[in-house]
Amino acid sequence: MDNLGSNFIKDVMIKDLESGKHDKIITRFPPEPNGYLHIGHAKSIIINFGLADEFNGKTNLRFDDTNPLKEDVEYVNSIKEDVKWLGFEWDNLFFASDYFEEMYKRAVLLIKKGLAYVDDLSADEIREYRGTLTSPGKESPYRDRSIEENLDLFQRMRNGEFANGEKVLRAKIDMKSPNINLRDPVIYRISHATHHNTGDKWCIYPMYAFAHPLEDAIEDVTHSICTVEFEDQRPLYNWVVEQCEMASKPQQIEFGRLNVTNTVMSKRKLKQLVDEGFVDGWDDPRMPTISGMRRKGFTPESIRNFVRETGVSKGSGAVDSQMLEHFVREDLKLKAPRTMGILNPLKVVITNYPEGQIELLDAEINPEVPEMGMRKIPFSREIYIEKDDFMENPPAKYFRLFPGNEVRLKHAYFIKCEEVIKDINGEVVELRCTYDPLTKSGTGFTGRKVKGTIHWVEANNSVAAEFRLYEPLILDSTEEENAEEEKTFLDKVNPDSLVVLQGFVEPNMRESMPHDKFQFFRHGYFNVDPKHTTVDKLVFNRIVSLKSSFKI
Ligand code: ATP
Ligand code: MG
Ligand code: MG
Repeated sequence: MDNLGSNFIKDVMIKDLESGKHDKIITRFPPEPNGYLHIGHAKSIIINFGLADEFNGKTNLRFDDTNPLKEDVEYVNSIKEDVKWLGFEWDNLFFASDYFEEMYKRAVLLIKKGLAYVDDLSADEIREYRGTLTSPGKESPYRDRSIEENLDLFQRMRNGEFANGEKVLRAKIDMKSPNINLRDPVIYRISHATHHNTGDKWCIYPMYAFAHPLEDAIEDVTHSICTVEFEDQRPLYNWVVEQCEMASKPQQIEFGRLNVTNTVMSKRKLKQLVDEGFVDGWDDPRMPTISGMRRKGFTPESIRNFVRETGVSKGSGAVDSQMLEHFVREDLKLKAPRTMGILNPLKVVITNYPEGQIELLDAEINPEVPEMGMRKIPFSREIYIEKDDFMENPPAKYFRLFPGNEVRLKHAYFIKCEEVIKDINGEVVELRCTYDPLTKSGTGFTGRKVKGTIHWVEANNSVAAEFRLYEPLILDSTEEENAEEEKTFLDKVNPDSLVVLQGFVEPNMRESMPHDKFQFFRHGYFNVDPKHTTVDKLVFNRIVSLKSSFKI
């Protein structure tokens, strides 16, 4: 598939193959099934699958499901669907929870080697004893329990003899280490909870820092690619692999997280938006989730091209959300059929056009791709135009319709506004126009020129359609990882992120299927919404408008 270009992770892989350290590259994408995947995960997917693929290696999809309280099969299923949709096939599908017995044995091995102990301190006490960056940690009074006592207590933890939080198992490393991660990290906790995969079999669960390196080693992963916030955990990762006497020694390599402006990307925040009803589900088109982007109308190609453009590096600055839009526009330009739709209808009666007559006009499906052929558009005495394309008292340089002015109807004729009909409130409800039969599009008419071209649909054969226009979900820049921001991100939710309009589209759109994508003349690219579209009504999500000042 798409090549990722040269980068520092690929360099490590090349070196390891050349030196004979490995003869095959094995990577994994390890999501926790506690939410839907987002565009940041797409980056991790593309790096893991993409790099392994470049070396004819393998990639596992592994569910990192060691926290029963937050995990669910709904998430497992959505993650599988999204990875496939992005265009990737895993070599193996694994669940970390399938390794619980193996992990337990490795923990027992650590105890037997005098490298792990059962601690009775509370979570708060453990935090307090751990110290800070500038002060050393303090040893727990339980640190010197005998191996026999530890083995017995750990077995009893597993048997369910203790309540949540009553005891933990900790690695015995170094309470004075400058790296806080090495100050006797907790490696097992008690949680009397039902697990989506193992049910009630376990009431103790391994912590991420202990479980993850074991999972990688069990699967013979060669390069364990993760994001930079795990850099400080690398010494612990290596300690676990080493002291648990794992045969495989995977190498952890960190890269910079992807952040995008005008959105949030932590699953916890996305879940909050869903749970508190700010959006209509994880697949709401405003969400940065893969399923939301799919529903909005992004293509897998556009997401892959975007991620490739952001590159693989250690840095994690925020990428402008307009760059995403740029890539979907580029991808759809040559794929999407063109059509016309009226988002805000204003009726126009063409008074000199014969009553009852319907004429079929020819239009290209995509002028940039002639092979896509032609379509027929009906034209008659009554049409709809956009409300915005008429002004009773226009400013200078307004070239669309106003009393006495003539414009071109795309693919049809010139029409001239002769009369304005208003309702009792003075609102314009209809225009009376005349057309000039000599100006028919495609006949080479050169008699005179008009400055404005507007779109339209025939009124009596058009199809009712709903248009959903989106603005950024989060106002003002990027998610930042500070505590204050955490509290206030809901305040930045854009109250006007969705505008719903009722209008009309060309009759040939009647056959459209969910996820069909179109370029509506002057309005941009739209996707047929898979959730709200019914046999009676088409619903279109705007993917992106036509123009942008954004430059790569
Ligand atoms: P979040 O912080 O958004 O909740 P997470 O890291 O907890 O995400 P996981 O399910 O553990 O979510 O992520 C699976 C993989 O995707 C991990 O290797 C993680 O580092 C990577 N990943 C998550 N978010 C991003 C991101 N924004 N950019 C790049 N990779 C990411
Ligand atoms: Mg995680
Ligand atoms: Mg997280």
